Amino acid sequence: MADIIKLLPDHVANQIAAGEVVQRPASVVKELMENAIDAGASTIKLVVKEGGKTLIQVIDDGVGMSVTDARLSFERHATSKIQKAEDLFQLNTKGFRGEALASIAAIAHVEMQTRTEEDEVATHIKIEGSKIISQEVAVAPKGTSMMVKNLFFNIPARRNFLKSNHVELRHIMDEFQRVALAHSSISFHFYNNGSELFNLPSTNSRQRIVNIFGTKTNEKLVPVKEDTQVVKISGYISKPEFAKKSRGEQFFFVNNRFIKSPYLHHAILGAFDGLIKKENHPGYFLYLTVDPGSIDINIHPTKTEIKFDDEHTLYAILRSTVKHSLGQFNVMPSLDFEQDQNLETPYNYKNKSAELPKVIVDAGFNPFKEDSGTGSAQRPSFQKPSTKGWESLYVGMESNIGKNSGFSSVSFESDTITGSIFDNRKETIDTGATTFQLRRKYIVTTIKSGMVVIDQSRAHQRVLYEKFLKNITIKEAVSQQLLFPLSLTFSKSDCAIIEEIQDSLTTVGFVFDSIEGEEVKITGVPLSVPESEVGIILDQLISDYQQDFVVDGFSQTDILSKTLAKSLSVKTGEVLDSDSQLALVNDLFACKESGVSPFNKPIFVTISEDEIDKKFI
Ligand code: ADP
Ligand code: MG
Repeated sequence: MADIIKLLPDHVANQIAAGEVVQRPASVVKELMENAIDAGASTIKLVVKEGGKTLIQVIDDGVGMSVTDARLSFERHATSKIQKAEDLFQLNTKGFRGEALASIAAIAHVEMQTRTEEDEVATHIKIEGSKIISQEVAVAPKGTSMMVKNLFFNIPARRNFLKSNHVELRHIMDEFQRVALAHSSISFHFYNNGSELFNLPSTNSRQRIVNIFGTKTNEKLVPVKEDTQVVKISGYISKPEFAKKSRGEQFFFVNNRFIKSPYLHHAILGAFDGLIKKENHPGYFLYLTVDPGSIDINIHPTKTEIKFDDEHTLYAILRSTVKHSLGQFNVMPSLDFEQDQNLETPYNYKNKSAELPKVIVDAGFNPFKEDSGTGSAQRPSFQKPSTKGWESLYVGMESNIGKNSGFSSVSFESDTITGSIFDNRKETIDTGATTFQLRRKYIVTTIKSGMVVIDQSRAHQRVLYEKFLKNITIKEAVSQQLLFPLSLTFSKSDCAIIEEIQDSLTTVGFVFDSIEGEEVKITGVPLSVPESEVGIILDQLISDYQQDFVVDGFSQTDILSKTLAKSLSVKTGEVLDSDSQLALVNDLFACKESGVSPFNKPIFVTISEDEIDKKFI
């Protein structure tokens, strides 16, 4: 048999490698910016067009390359950063694999212009799909400009796989922010489609955070500092009261490289334990410096995961350092008796005065009464400890019995209802049904076969969710004009998200006057949204979007409807008058899918007469 194994031609090998290194425009941005940093640049300019699909350009004032190096830099495994295997353990640079430029050049149209201090002229190289198109002498300032056009031009499948420009831009912004946060002494400029998105002067790390995430970030930051033999830690955590539902701003940098570490994240969560709600996430910007020999960053080609030699120690140090900072800056209770008393209680108790628990008994409450009349919305529902809750079932029972012909005929469904009202799936509420609210959480009512207990909040979520979905699809939202335009500030990347979903927001009734820089001006809001809630709702939306990177129109409207439904729904603990209870029940059973909430949680349970009967045997 003839030999069949052949070495792949370089350009094929490069294309394969590119699959690992370059997933999307943001990966190119990361590689080029890191090269600029490795080249010792003090100013880096990033220019992007159409989410990086048509153009990504990084211009630096670093050391530049000689003619030979310029040419060599596009070869695979060509790097100036390591020479021998041991160097891998003393890495002080971002790059070391020498495959980024080769990979990028294999799948895009690349133009590089570069000049060193010593050279009088610059080298200008054009390369497309690994093929050198031209190499010329040019006039250019010291440093390097890398222009990457038409990414994936020769891999249509990859190109088609790219998301909308907005989504790709957001990925790019994420990478940009990570790099910019890790290098506050370097100044960065970022232009998107011809307009300036970020202008970050050389500064310290706190100011850099503020410049990126907006002025209101400053008051949220608590400094963290610790020097040990294993690790040096510096940076900031955000005060517990600013913890967000979304993962939000969480950054670990190890030796100035952004990393992801669920393990270390857990250490931070531990430090915040008891200070923030379970579902909230603390924000942090933490810079760890360790001996480069004690980490292995070679795990993943895109290099956001690293392996530490002594993770356990690091975990313990990190946790106690963050805890210490929280205590030192009076955001956590401490045992210092000379301290102001107010500071000795956790933040959420600070402004509350001690009060004896009150037991409210509503003597006039009748769960079975047809119409509880006016003022019932204000009336606290009957509350007792849960073990005694059953007693309330009997409140008013006698009067109810009185109305009926006898105890045996106590029946909650109207006699006129026939079996035909049942459709095959949905249980139908009888029209004359009585409802009552149980522990400000459930609405209890009757159905033909027994009773149904409905979670009020989930039911309302479902009703609103379907309503918003419908509004978006038929584009028929009612909006209320605001008397004064509402001006809200967000970070630039949050503004980018709002811009991205602006169309969908408009379909539910938001009217935007402008979105500029960090300011969003709103002149109209959906009819059901109170003006005071707009900021909260938009914040929630942004974090929901960050969590599930939504892409196409369908999931965008879905998330939007879910978020609005979640934010605007009646919550557990709210008292509903009987009209609202009934309306909610009717609305729920008019929904397409009344069984589960938009978040896939069950909305109601039914208890059949048989089941009840059995309990009485
Ligand atoms: P790596 O960064 O892993 O070494 P790259 O493919 O990214 O591999 O780059 C190859 C080489 O090209 C680098 O080692 C460096 O010598 C040179 N190079 C790339 N970008 C720049 C730049 N902006 N300025 C100076 N030299 C650069
Ligand atoms: Mg590199």
